[in-house]
Amino acid sequence: MCVSLSTGLKYNSAKCCIFFGGVDQTGRKDLKNLTGFAEENLSFRYLGIPMSSKRLSAQAYDNLIDKINHWSSRLLSYAGKLLLVKSVTFALTNYWMQWNNRESQVAWSTISMPKKNGGLNIIDLDIWNTVTLLKLLWNLSDKADSLWEQWIHTYYVKNQNIMDIEGTTNASCIVKEILNQRGCVRGRSWWGDMLHQDRFKMSKIYTELLRDVPQVPWKSLFYGNLARPRAKINLWLSCNERLGTKSRLYRFGMVDNPKCCFCSEEETQSHLLFDCVGTKGIWMKVLEWLQIQHIPSGWTQEMKWIIQKTKGKGARAKILKLATTKSIYEIWRYRNGKCFGNNVNAQKTYDTIIDSIVYRD
Ligand SMILES: [Zn+2]
Repeated sequence: MCVSLSTGLKYNSAKCCIFFGGVDQTGRKDLKNLTGFAEENLSFRYLGIPMSSKRLSAQAYDNLIDKINHWSSRLLSYAGKLLLVKSVTFALTNYWMQWNNRESQVAWSTISMPKKNGGLNIIDLDIWNTVTLLKLLWNLSDKADSLWEQWIHTYYVKNQNIMDIEGTTNASCIVKEILNQRGCVRGRSWWGDMLHQDRFKMSKIYTELLRDVPQVPWKSLFYGNLARPRAKINLWLSCNERLGTKSRLYRFGMVDNPKCCFCSEEETQSHLLFDCVGTKGIWMKVLEWLQIQHIPSGWTQEMKWIIQKTKGKGARAKILKLATTKSIYEIWRYRNGKCFGNNVNAQKTYDTIIDSIVYRD
């Protein structure tokens, strides 16, 4: 009312609504009569995100999940999905997470690790969530002076050091989450360095937090690998022992038997790559073509040998890396073709592998 009188601007009561907190029924009635606004309840959406004074429920994320599902991601290849996640999904979820800095409900596993840690280099949203909370902790360490920080200082910090305060059982879930992050930065030199900076660098903190994740021995196979993305994804699945072999599908009750389609043994990944009579010969011929003297054994031994042989940046290491990636990919396609009764054979598979090495197709 006062704003209207002093500025001459008039509000449209049909387009306004009012939210109450700590106001009794009589007060609410009076204010509604005075303003003509309709009463609304939390949570409402603002820029697509539910506004709530409490932690967001799983249902609050339905809208976001629906949006992602509608992008027909089922029709995309694994490499296509990876690009979709990297380019769009991260931006969306990051926006949701940074908004009022609520905890992400989305769980991410190995896939989100950097390549050296065995992942596909997607941002890990759990770690990123920690980073966004650390940004708030950094703000509260006398780094920012917004109304929110002042409020937290008045009610919780009360002239103490933010790293020392205790007894915040009545604090909101956001404040508790921020204070919970103190454990992962206490005594860390990079946190001390960041406190001396004028700007909080999220990517730097993210990199520091990732240092705690163990690296995988096969990381080098993905550096300077000239194979196409779908072949590299297939190699990555193999390295994580996640190829959908019959033995694996049988364990999940998805097929009737775990038998290999080339012989009568159980089709484990170790058997298929490269112990099976149906596939061992192809890999041996590829090695012969590369003029490498080596008798293949099971997957674990073979991986150790390949990792050893592809160390360094020389042309031979690069070609063996490419040959390995393409061989695993084409052998897997050969196996799929055989399982589904397609017109496939070992010679064709070998020819495709050699062609793809020569033409880098
Ligand atoms: Zn077999």
